[in-house]
Amino acid sequence: MIEKLKCPVCGRKFPKGQGVTLSFGGETLTFHSKSCAIKFVRHLLDKIDRSSITSAFKETRREFEELLKKREESIAKKI
Ligand SMILES: [Zn+2]
Repeated sequence: MIEKLKCPVCGRKFPKGQGVTLSFGGETLTFHSKSCAIKFVRHLLDKIDRSSITSAFKETRREFEELLKKREESIAKKI
C-alpha cells in the first residue's frame, strides 16, 4: 500500500513521492502541488522580519494548520 501524505495547505491527500517539498529550520513539508507550496511561501515571505526567519516559517506552518483545523471542524459540523 502506498503511503499517503496530506498537503498542509489544502488538506488534499496524495501518494508519497509526489508533490513539492520545502525544508527549512530542520523541518520538511511536502505540498500536493506547486501552487500550494507557493501559497505557503508567500505567507512565509510576508512574515520575514530578518531577525527570525526560522520562527516565521514555523509560525506560517502553524497558521495553515489552524486554518485547516478550522475548516475541517466546519466541514465536520455540516455532516
Ligand atoms: Zn495542496
